[in-house]
Amino acid sequence: MVWEPKRRGAIVKRDVDDHTIMERSLLVKRYELELDRKKCIGCGICADACPKEAIKYSPAEFKGIRAISRPSIDFDPELCVLCGECVTVCPLHALTMRMDGAERIPVVELNVFAQATRKRW
Ligand code: SF4
Ligand code: SF4
Repeated sequence: MVWEPKRRGAIVKRDVDDHTIMERSLLVKRYELELDRKKCIGCGICADACPKEAIKYSPAEFKGIRAISRPSIDFDPELCVLCGECVTVCPLHALTMRMDGAERIPVVELNVFAQATRKRW
């Protein structure tokens, strides 16, 4: 694998146990979006709500009538802008957004919900 230097401000995605963490570290701020896969049921609501289409939804796979995998989601760090909109719509609180370690959601603080989310609320 070819080593590439990390772009300043780029989102780094990593998996730790049952959690997927998206992190952007700036000079004075650190943003984190975390998915708890134990809580997530793969309903896909967050994927519908994401204004950047940064959440890929994978349906359950079946072999005959037997499910061999659950529905799930994954993030695209190239598309995500860490707005936190997905966090506001998750019915199971499987998503958490942190700014400098504190639970804060940018779209809530700035009151910039996309129209689709306004209709849901
Ligand atoms: S809305 Fe929540 S439970 Fe549903 S797929 Fe997204 S993270 Fe999982
Ligand atoms: S933080 Fe915003 S851009 Fe990133 S996955 Fe969630 S809704 Fe999409």
